Amino acid sequence: MTPTSGAKAAAPATYAVVGGGIAGLTAAWELACAGAQVELYEASERLGGALAPLQLGGVRVDAGAEAFATRTPAVREFLDELGLADRIVSPNPAGAWLQLPGLAAPLPATGILGIPGDPTAGEVARLLGTADAARAAEDLTAAMTWTAQQSPSLGEVVVDRMGPAVVEKLVAPITSGVHSADPHQLPMSTAHPRLYQAMLEHGSLARAVAALRAAAPAGSSVQSLRGGMNTLISALEEQLRQLGVRIRLNTPVATGPPPWLLQDLQGREYSAVILAAGAQQAAQLLGSPGDGPAGVALVTLLVHAPELDAHPRGTGMLVAPSVAGIGAKAMTHISAKWAWAAQSLEAQLGPGHHLVRLSYGRTGDHGAALGFHSTEEALYRAALADLPQLTGTAVTPEQVLDHTVVRWRRGGISPQAQGLQERLKAQAERGGPEIAAVGESFAGTGLAQVIPHARQAARHLLGQGRAA
Ligand SMILES: Cc1cc2nc3c(=O)[nH]c(=O)nc-3n(C[C@H](O)[C@H](O)[C@H](O)COP(=O)(O)OP(=O)(O)OC[C@H]3O[C@@H](n4cnc5c(N)ncnc54)[C@H](O)[C@@H]3O)c2cc1C
Repeated sequence: MTPTSGAKAAAPATYAVVGGGIAGLTAAWELACAGAQVELYEASERLGGALAPLQLGGVRVDAGAEAFATRTPAVREFLDELGLADRIVSPNPAGAWLQLPGLAAPLPATGILGIPGDPTAGEVARLLGTADAARAAEDLTAAMTWTAQQSPSLGEVVVDRMGPAVVEKLVAPITSGVHSADPHQLPMSTAHPRLYQAMLEHGSLARAVAALRAAAPAGSSVQSLRGGMNTLISALEEQLRQLGVRIRLNTPVATGPPPWLLQDLQGREYSAVILAAGAQQAAQLLGSPGDGPAGVALVTLLVHAPELDAHPRGTGMLVAPSVAGIGAKAMTHISAKWAWAAQSLEAQLGPGHHLVRLSYGRTGDHGAALGFHSTEEALYRAALADLPQLTGTAVTPEQVLDHTVVRWRRGGISPQAQGLQERLKAQAERGGPEIAAVGESFAGTGLAQVIPHARQAARHLLGQGRAA
């Protein structure tokens, strides 16, 4: 690969995108729409990364990410530009439940990340107990001692303002089940980009939560596409091919000592490179793979269980780490959450059929705990045992018609990400090729973070005007 200058200004600039997950595809789309030539390298045999389909009972659902956060309009705007706005759907507003030791109840409706916006509400006292709810309410009157100069973890702040019970019972089930993160390891700024600042402004964590909830767009806090988020990948792939993007599957861009990327892209002329290869790969490319991110295993079950027609646990269940006797950390009742999935199932198989997805593998779990490294047999058995407890029904193994197990490595913000960005910048300043790193290690986890960040990075490169 040869970095080029503006000498041949007439030809459109050519960019390499390394990684065909949502970050790479989004960046490629942004570049191609601006008239650039784009070559996209994907290591595996399919595009999409953590957005992928799986098929059970003749119905395609999401194997990985299944929704996007609506707290900013970024994803909706992107879907609109792709012409997919009419396929956006909201989940069943019933919401998810929480499993605590000896108690299952709906999650408080007014919270963010499990933090209650009104710690005096009856539903909070019901989950926490009177004494712990009173401790949580101290946040409303206690002096604010945190400052803008600090960057604490979510766990630290919530323990300080509302007490440890709020972390254990309300926050940890969500950060562990949804974000695969321990609240004490999760920087507050990563968990929610505006919550810390809002807490300082309002002088209270609960009032900050309530204010952010009130300011959020009306409607559901997440949305998806009819047919699942995986359909975004097929739609993007089609548009990229129409725009002339060259997509090379099964083509890993090798790691190796610096100047790593250059070795595999040698002989080609690129104006710039977008690195979108996922968290672990980004760290490997840097030559510092670290411990590797945590993993989860998802067991999806197809069941014939009319007793689930009433959606006994709303759209699913988050399990507090302190609950004994349930191996799963979360369950999504897919056919309760998404009307299109229930309709497809009924059309394929008739009434009374359901899809449920159970997640295994908390961060910090080691050894005997069920998770990413467990065998398929062990995970399936655990799911059969957990299902009646998680649904509060007597559904039996004989009612399970089919299942799949999918394993995902989880990324999250990589500690090496900042270092990598700085090295890439330094390399470009020394006259090397411009390389922009995108994806969840740099933007934060989730589509609402990854998509606008990738678009911004692509626009920045276009603005640099490094024409080939
Ligand atoms: C199980 C699960 C559920 C999730 N649920 C949600 C959700 O509901 N909502 C939400 O907003 N977010 C969710 N997320 C997070 C979200 O999916 C991710 O933040 C996002 O998809 C990350 O996209 P990415 O492009 O950065 O990385 P990835 O999706 O990991 O894509 C990286 C791509 O790069 C390729 N690659 C790797 N190395 C190389 C190489 N050397 N050369 C070429 N290609 C390479 C990989 O094969 C892969 O295709 C979930 C994640 C998981 C795993």
